Amino acid sequence: MPTLKFAVLAGDYIGPEVMTEALRVLEHVAKQEGLTLAYTRADVGGAGIDNHGKALPDSTLKICSESDAILFGSVGGPKWEKLPPKEQPERAALLPLRKHFTLFANIRPGLLYRELADASPLKSERIPDGIDIVCIRELTGGLYFGLPKETTTLPDGDIQAVDTMVYRKSEIERITVTAIAAARSRKKKLCSVDKANVLETSVLWRKTVSEYVAKHAPDIELSHMYADNAAMQLARNPNQFDVFVTENMFGDILSDEMAVICGSLGMLSSASLGAGKNSLGLPFGLFEPAGGTAPDIAGKGIANPCAQILSVALMLRFSFGLEKTATRIEAAVKKAVTSGVRTGDIAFGKPSVGTKAMADAIIANLG
Ligand code: NAD
Repeated sequence: MPTLKFAVLAGDYIGPEVMTEALRVLEHVAKQEGLTLAYTRADVGGAGIDNHGKALPDSTLKICSESDAILFGSVGGPKWEKLPPKEQPERAALLPLRKHFTLFANIRPGLLYRELADASPLKSERIPDGIDIVCIRELTGGLYFGLPKETTTLPDGDIQAVDTMVYRKSEIERITVTAIAAARSRKKKLCSVDKANVLETSVLWRKTVSEYVAKHAPDIELSHMYADNAAMQLARNPNQFDVFVTENMFGDILSDEMAVICGSLGMLSSASLGAGKNSLGLPFGLFEPAGGTAPDIAGKGIANPCAQILSVALMLRFSFGLEKTATRIEAAVKKAVTSGVRTGDIAFGKPSVGTKAMADAIIANLG
C-alpha cells in the first residue's frame, strides 16, 4: 500500500487545534486501509517568525520540497499584526509557497448541507437542497502578479499607481484542464467567468477556454458569464452553477462570496494544485481550510475541525489518488454534521460539542 509523504504546516491560533483532529482522523483511516503515513511537521506563519525569524523558514520549505503534498492549517493573528505588511505571516508564508510550487489552480468546493441551510444568509427557499458547487480560481497570474506594479509621482506632481493584468494562453489552458477534470467528476457543466466585454485578458480567456473545451472536452457543457453577473447569480441561485472557472482577482472575490453563502468557514476546505507532479506522478498540492486562524475562539477547544478534515480528503483525492478514501471521509463528516453533532459555529444556539468531540463523531462514522 502507498506511503503518504506530506508536510504538516499547522500554523497559528486554531491551526494546530484543528490539525491535531484532522491527523487523528487520517491516522484512523490509514490504520483501517493499511496506508503508511510519513508526515513531517514544520513551523509556518507566526510560529515560523517566533521560532526561526521568518514566516516561511528555509527548513520548512525544504520539508515541503521533499514531500508529495502540504497539509496546511492557517496563519496569522493579532500577535504579528504590527509587523510591516511584507513580513506579515499570510503574505510572507502563503504567497511564497504558492509561487515556489507554482500552485496555479485553487479548487474551492462550496458545500452547504441541506441540514445547515440556516447558516447561509440566503433565504432557505433559494437553497432547499443546500449548496453544492465548485469554484476553480487561477492563482498565480493576472492582476496580482502582473508587472509593472508601482506607484510613481508624475511630472505634474500628481501620483499614479498601476497594476498590470496579464495572462498567457498557456496559463489559461492549464487552468482549463483543471476545470475540465473537476467538471468531468461532477455534472460535466462548466461556466467560465470573465469580463470579455471590457478586458483584453478576458477576451483571450474566453477564446482560449472555448477553443480548448471544444477540442479536448466536447463532452463538457460550457457556458460563459460576466463576473459582475456571476456575483449576482451566486446570490440569486448558486446551484445554477456546478463548476465555475475564473481568473485570479474575480476568483478571489467570487470564492469569498461563495464562502459566505455557504455559511460557516469552519466547513469549507480548499486545494491549491501545482504545475509540478509529486513522486507518485500526481499533482503536488497545498490543502487548507478556507478560513483563517480564528483568534477569537483559539485555545478554547471549540473550533470546527471539519474544514481541516475535509482538506485531508482533498489531499488524498488529488495528491495521492485515493478517491474512495477521500469520499469515505467526506461521507463521515456529512453524517456527523447532519445527524446533529455540531460545533458552536454551526449549532444555531442548540447544544454544541468541542473540536475533539466533533472529530470523535467523524471517527465513529468511519467505523
Ligand atoms: P477567520 O477566518 O480567522 O475568522 C472569521 C470568523 O470565522 C471568526 O468569527 C472565526 O471564529 C470564525 N471561524 C473561522 N474558522 C472557524 C472554525 N474552524 N471554526 C469555527 N469558527 C471559525 O478570519 P479573520 O478573523 O479575518 O482572520 C484572523 C487571522 O487569520 C488574520 O490574521 C488573518 O490574516 C488570518 N487568515 C489566514 C488565512 C490563511 O492562513 N489562509 C486565511 C484568512 C485569514
